[in-house]
Amino acid sequence: MDEFDVVVIGGGPAGENILLRCTECGLSIAVVEQELLGGECSYWACIPSKTLLRPGAVLEAARRVPGAREAITGTLDVDAALARRDEIVGNWHDDGQVEWLEGAGGTLVRGHGRIVGDRTVEVEQPDGTTRRLVARKAVVLATGSHSWMPPVDGLDAIRTWDSRDITSAKHVPRRLLVLGGGVVASEMAQAWKRLGAEEVTIIERSGRLLGREEPWAAEELRSALEAEGITVRTNAEAKAASREGDDGPVTLTLEDGNTLVGDELLVAVGRRPNTRDVGLETVGLEPGKNVEVDDRLRATGVDGDWLYAIGDCNGRSLLTHMGKYQARIATDVIRGRDATAWADHRAVPRVVFTDPQVAAVGLTEAQAREQGIDVRTVSYGVGDVAAGGTSGVGITGTAFLVVDETRGVIVGATFTGPDIGELLHSATVAVAGEVPLDTLWHAVPSFPTFSEVWLRLLETYGV
Ligand SMILES: Cc1cc2nc3c(=O)[nH]c(=O)nc-3n(C[C@H](O)[C@H](O)[C@H](O)COP(=O)(O)OP(=O)(O)OC[C@H]3O[C@@H](n4cnc5c(N)ncnc54)[C@H](O)[C@@H]3O)c2cc1C
Repeated sequence: MDEFDVVVIGGGPAGENILLRCTECGLSIAVVEQELLGGECSYWACIPSKTLLRPGAVLEAARRVPGAREAITGTLDVDAALARRDEIVGNWHDDGQVEWLEGAGGTLVRGHGRIVGDRTVEVEQPDGTTRRLVARKAVVLATGSHSWMPPVDGLDAIRTWDSRDITSAKHVPRRLLVLGGGVVASEMAQAWKRLGAEEVTIIERSGRLLGREEPWAAEELRSALEAEGITVRTNAEAKAASREGDDGPVTLTLEDGNTLVGDELLVAVGRRPNTRDVGLETVGLEPGKNVEVDDRLRATGVDGDWLYAIGDCNGRSLLTHMGKYQARIATDVIRGRDATAWADHRAVPRVVFTDPQVAAVGLTEAQAREQGIDVRTVSYGVGDVAAGGTSGVGITGTAFLVVDETRGVIVGATFTGPDIGELLHSATVAVAGEVPLDTLWHAVPSFPTFSEVWLRLLETYGV
């Protein structure tokens, strides 16, 4: 039996950050990982997807700059792009992260972890043996999430791609069907179109892309995707899927009777928590569901406040940086500090890394109105500041603030435009800090940066 202050099940970004914080403050910690240390994010999600988007984005950026665009005389080197992706994910080996973990003073236990009772985790190790770990202070679930397969006739019987397959794909499909219109679907549709897919079709059941973001931002993205030849079918519900053999064309039949044919079908319609086989039933919780937590990240309904859940598996915000934030808060709570994850409720930053990017924090206009906030919105063209001209030609996008008129503070912001995600943190600071608009007036943006759009927004608002 091994005893540690903290035992974490899952070594993705959330689990790794618990480890970092715990070792920094002298707590002993074991991380149980059944696959690759670094989790989904490092090998099949954030890192490879952003790397795959980058070559196309850089090429487009150069096309917007007279003088540079003339230097583009060829097409993307797909092999080099995929080789860079392979390199940045360490060719799906985690030696580097293991070295880091051990250097930080943590203990890695390889295998599948399950809670088996109060503060106790059993690990089924790759060699078939079982190792029992006991936590003096806390067990932290950080088991992440997996792609969800919707109940479409025939879908589970054919070979499809999920987010893992598309981020690790070794070839460019000629015709790519993308089921879903959210972040993963939009990003991957554009990445692979720009890498050379001839036909890319997004099939989304609702009336728009990016259902959680501002409708106008989703519309800007849709226009941009369509302008580069991606077909976007909204209000399109998949009814049945079939494939000729294992490698033949895949056919998707829609509710309206239309059929679409592709060489690969990416299914990107949502995620489910990895909580089915982690022993939740032994502590009275329901397997397969998000682990409900309070703002101190402690699982609700478990006596003794020893079980925590952070990252995707609690369903609060399926984003790496929010999982890492929750890890920081949970470690503070475990070591006896008074901390709560309040940013989860009002200042979640999110960037869709398409071109244009869609970057947002806090509430959308509709969410703010639903909450009864006295809303006023203000917008300004991102390309209309001086940086829009110095950076190239044809740069467009929108900056948009949702202001709580009563309190004179920003409760939400959305920016669209090339690389505009870099502007987001200024809005996150304003939203999280509830900085009064009158004070923001004195936060002077440098000339000529895209941040000048802040000045224009405040002027338009009438500060
Ligand atoms: C294609 C794609 C792109 C994305 N891009 C971004 C992005 O750009 N920015 C962003 O912020 N977010 C992005 N996300 C979301 C991000 O990947 C997740 O929010 C993040 O990985 C969650 O971290 P986590 O630590 O909670 O879980 P994960 O990264 O899923 O890690 C969980 C780990 O737990 C392990 N595990 C599970 N069960 C057990 C068990 N019983 N025993 C032992 N080990 C176990 C798994 O093997 C895994 O390593 C993207 C997601 C996808 C799918």
